[in-house]
Amino acid sequence: MTDLASALSRTLVDDRAHVFHSWSAQASLDPADIVKAEGSRIWDSEGNSYLDFASQLVNVNVGHQHPKVVAAIKEQADQLCTIAPYQANAARSEAARLIAELAPADLDSVFFTNGGADANENAIRMARIHTGRHKVLTMYRSYHGGTAAAIAMTGDPRRWASEPGPPGMVKFWGPYLYRSSFHASNEHEESERALVHLADVLMVEGAENVAAILIEPVVGTNGILVPPDGYLQGIRDLCDQHGIVMIVDEVMSGFGRCGKWFSVDRWDVVPDLICFAKGVNSGYVPLGGVVISRSIADTFANRPFPGGLTYSGHPLACAAAVATINVMREDGVVDHARHLGDDVIGPTLREIAGRHPSVGEVRGLGVFWAIELVSDRTTREPLVPFNASGESAAPMAELSNACKQQGLWPLTHFNRLHIVPPLTTTEEEIRHGLEIVDAVLDRADVHAR
Ligand code: PLP
Repeated sequence: MTDLASALSRTLVDDRAHVFHSWSAQASLDPADIVKAEGSRIWDSEGNSYLDFASQLVNVNVGHQHPKVVAAIKEQADQLCTIAPYQANAARSEAARLIAELAPADLDSVFFTNGGADANENAIRMARIHTGRHKVLTMYRSYHGGTAAAIAMTGDPRRWASEPGPPGMVKFWGPYLYRSSFHASNEHEESERALVHLADVLMVEGAENVAAILIEPVVGTNGILVPPDGYLQGIRDLCDQHGIVMIVDEVMSGFGRCGKWFSVDRWDVVPDLICFAKGVNSGYVPLGGVVISRSIADTFANRPFPGGLTYSGHPLACAAAVATINVMREDGVVDHARHLGDDVIGPTLREIAGRHPSVGEVRGLGVFWAIELVSDRTTREPLVPFNASGESAAPMAELSNACKQQGLWPLTHFNRLHIVPPLTTTEEEIRHGLEIVDAVLDRADVHAR
């Protein structure tokens, strides 16, 4: 054994020798060895515990190791671990019925996938066949997954290495008042101008060629960008005007994260397809899917849908979804998420913003918030450059390390700290976590003018 290996646990030795991690240069990795998790807390093998303010990858909505979800998985494992998608299965049927009950209007049929990327892939496949058109419009500043079409639809730097991608993916700018692409000075202007821009993109692309507009209704990883009132309805209207399928990627924003079952419910907008994953079963077993409107489902009533997965509607994943949804209903988790956002996280973050010159803006809803950090509040220059890495990202790495030292597991992206704990986190835990955030932001202030 090398000196390094002897200092590491068996888990870390094997990890560094054999595990190839996502999105990372492998040599520089230093993963934590997590041995226990409960509620909003995780523990590493050295006995350190952290309040999970990331919900891992914004998926553990009902918290870690919820006993009812764990029990449901065990019970399903005893009964039937796996069965092919072409059979009927009780866990799958019940999960589909529950999800259909939660989805708005006539979205009442569910195609299950293994996660978010393949949900988006299959949603555009449905839209293309339903419309007989090819192009798909998505936003800059978005993430839709790591598979071929999903990464091509993604509007952030993770796409670059996969280019050139499949043809027909067109990007447009969405609303982001703090860094408005439209020189807007208020939410109303931002919404109106963003919709005029989208109408222009449709004109020059030929709306009659466009199968779908696919968006994150509340943009997640790329900044927790909450759309101004009227914007989502404006997209709905453009889709109706041109016979385009409106697809919402609720992989991160759905299942209570925004204080409603789906984020579109905050504006009462009804899309044609909803893509989900993550929070549907808090990620205890991989699961995603597409909730489908009646008219699109009817397109495939008498012609085969040309897509499928060996594990579509996997019983263990679906049993976890049934248990998660029941827990969320019984315990009022969605209302709790809305209360945390309205009465605890939002007001506290606004107070924190007032104390720190490095805070440019705080924004969010439910348990879905971002603190955008700047080096200059007047010019709004980001604390670290767009897509910063290595030395240029050092101030954010420093912040992240300071959070961990204080017992808080953070989620940072570019120049932002996201506040995205489990929806079941108590008010007391949230306040404690935000005290840590308040304290560590002093480090960011050092870099602010
Ligand atoms: N869509 C959104 C909005 C996401 O945030 C993610 C993952 O973070 C995905 C899609 C991809 O989901 P998955 O990693 O399960 O494929």
